[in-house]
Amino acid sequence: MSDSCIFCKTANGQIPSDFVYETKRVVVFKDINPQAPTHLLVVPKEHIETLNDLNDKDLTAELFEALKAAVKKLGISEYRTVINTGKGAGQEVFHLHIHVMAGRSFSWPAG
Ligand code: AMP
Ligand code: ZN
Repeated sequence: MSDSCIFCKTANGQIPSDFVYETKRVVVFKDINPQAPTHLLVVPKEHIETLNDLNDKDLTAELFEALKAAVKKLGISEYRTVINTGKGAGQEVFHLHIHVMAGRSFSWPAG
């Protein structure tokens, strides 16, 4: 837990937030600045800066299981997932998160 990290505070309940889905080690909540009609963030409760720092296979599985359960709960079967890793790739919040976007069409390659 990092005191200065917005996602640590959100994931651990210090900032009130409606979780779409929650497991022991993972939360799923709505992005504050949605880029699609549905825009979720799948976030570990523990502070892990980037995907490069994720070294726990159980947590890796739990992140993806939580993602799948959250979209199933919302009745979504088509969606775009994004993990920005590092400033050059567009990461702004340095607490690992998986973007899940749905409800519009998406172009490829991603910009
Ligand atoms: P990234 O650029 O991949 O680091 O994405 C960070 C995302 O976090 C952006 O889509 C922001 O809109 C979102 N965001 C920032 N602060 C919050 C917050 N307090 N609650 C929900 N989403 C947030
Ligand atoms: Zn954090």
